[in-house]
Amino acid sequence: MRLFRMIALTWILAAQIAWAGGVIRLKTRTVDPAQTPRTPHPGVLVRRPARHFLVQFASYPGPDLRNQLAQRHIQVLAYVPDDSLMVSGLPPLNLAGLGVSWSGPLDAADKISPALAALPAGAYVVVFHPDVDMAAARTLAVEQGFEILENPNLLPGQLLVTGSSGRLDGLAARDEVAYILPALVDLLTGERVMSCAGPIAEAGPMAEYVAVGRGWAKDTGGGVALQYFFDSTPGNLDANLARGEVERAFREWARYANISFTSADQAAAARSIDILFASGAHGDPYPFDGPGGVLAHTFYPAPPNTEPIAGDMHLDASEDWHAGTSIDLFTVALHEAGHALGLGHSDNPGAVMYPYYRLATGLTNDDIAGIRALYGANGETQPPPGTPVQPPSPPPPNPPAPSPPGPPSPPANPPPPTPPNPPPTPPTGGTDTTPPFLQVVSPGSTIVSTSSAAIAISGSASDNVGVTAVKWSTSTGSSGDAAGTATWSASVPLLVGTNVVTVRAFDATGNSAWRAITVVRR
Ligand code: ZN
Ligand code: CA
Ligand code: ZN
Repeated sequence: MRLFRMIALTWILAAQIAWAGGVIRLKTRTVDPAQTPRTPHPGVLVRRPARHFLVQFASYPGPDLRNQLAQRHIQVLAYVPDDSLMVSGLPPLNLAGLGVSWSGPLDAADKISPALAALPAGAYVVVFHPDVDMAAARTLAVEQGFEILENPNLLPGQLLVTGSSGRLDGLAARDEVAYILPALVDLLTGERVMSCAGPIAEAGPMAEYVAVGRGWAKDTGGGVALQYFFDSTPGNLDANLARGEVERAFREWARYANISFTSADQAAAARSIDILFASGAHGDPYPFDGPGGVLAHTFYPAPPNTEPIAGDMHLDASEDWHAGTSIDLFTVALHEAGHALGLGHSDNPGAVMYPYYRLATGLTNDDIAGIRALYGANGETQPPPGTPVQPPSPPPPNPPAPSPPGPPSPPANPPPPTPPNPPPTPPTGGTDTTPPFLQVVSPGSTIVSTSSAAIAISGSASDNVGVTAVKWSTSTGSSGDAAGTATWSASVPLLVGTNVVTVRAFDATGNSAWRAITVVRR
C-alpha cells in the first residue's frame, strides 16, 4: 500500500514537472529550468542591460498569449521548442499573469555552434537577433576585434566575419548576437549560394540556436508514410518538370531513411506536404520578398504546427526557377523537404541542411545522419556506387579536443572561383562608387595546406580610377600592406591551425574589394 502511494506520488510529481513548460531545446544543450534553476524566478521582472530574453511558458504559447505580449510592447522574435519564445523588449519586462515558468537571457555559451569546436574555422557567420539594427551590429563586430567581409548572398541580420576564435566568447556575450556558426567556404570565395531563413512554426520562426528534430510521429509499423500535393507549380517552368524535380527531392530523402512519399488526391490532407508556389503575401504571416532573398519557407511538422499547415512547403513564385542551374528547384526542394521532415539547420558547412547551400546533386553524410536519427535507416542502407554523397563532415557536437586541424572540409567538386566583385565600369561622373577588381593569382586555390610559418601571396588589382593600396590581414591577428598595387605581393605569417587571409584593394574614394583564402598550417 505504502509502495503504491509512493509510486502514485512520484507519478503526480513527474506529471507536474512535465506540464510545467517542458524543456528548452537549444543546439548546445537541452535545458530544463525546473531542474536546474537559473537566474530569475517565474514571472519576475527582468533587470539587465539585455533586451533579448528567452521566456518559457507553462504551456504552448498560442496566438492569445502572443497578442498579450504585443499589447505589453514585447516583440516575439522566434519560437523555441517546446514552450518558449525569444522576445525583445525594454526591461523590466512585464510578464505577470502570463503563466511564465522561467525567463532570462540566452547564455553566451549557447550562442556558439558546437561545430566550431570540431571544425577549424577563422571565418564565421554571425547571426543577430532579427530586431537588431545592422549598422550597430557592424560596429559591435568590429569592436569585438572581427573584420567584416561583405557578401551579397548573406541573409538579412547576418554578417560574415573573420577573426580569432579566442574572441568568439566576447562576441557571443553581446546581447545583440543570437548565434555564431562556421562559414561555408563558398561564402569566402564569393560563389553563388542559396540561403534559407529556417523552418517556421505557428508561433514564429525557429532560430539558428534552436535544436529542432522530433519530426513526424511514427506510423504503427514504425515508419512514416507521408503524402504530398501540388497546390501550384512555378509559372516559368514546365509543370511536369517542376513536379518531377520536387518528387526527386522527396525520393532522395526516402532513399536513406524509413520514410515514404505518395501523391495525395487533395489539398490539406493530414500528414501531407502541400507544395505552394506563391508571390508576395499568400495567406500566412511570412510574405515573400520578390526575386532573390528568401526563396522558400517550410512549416515544421506537428507539433508545434497543427494540420493542415504542418509540413507544408511554400516557394517564392517570383524566383527564376530552373532545373540543373541556379536557382535550381531540386536543390531548394531538397533543403525544404528536410524541414518538412522535421530537420532543422545543420551547422556543418557543405551539408544540404546548412543555412547556406550550393547547387546540390544529393544529400551529404551529415544530412543522412540527421534524417536517420529521426526515422532510422530504411532497407537500402548503403547508397549504390557512384551516388553523389559528399565526403563525411566533421562530427558536430562533442569533441572540443584540441586535435591538430585538418584542412577545412572542401566541397565535393569545388567549382572554379568567381570574383565576388563586379568588373570595373567606366566612371559616370560625380562620386566614384565603383569598387576595384581584385584577383589572387598565387596560391591558385582558396584552401591551402602548408607546414611553413609564412605564405607568399600575390595577384593583381585594377580600378576605373586607380588602385591606391592593397592590404592584407589574417584571422590570427596579423596585418600589413602588400608591395605594389596593379600587381601586388606579400609574405603573410601563419600560426599553426587555420588562418583566413583576407586581401583588400582600395581606391582613392575608399571603395574596396576583398578576396579571402583559407590557409591551414600543419
Ligand atoms: Zn532551411
Ligand atoms: Ca524571394
Ligand atoms: Zn508561406
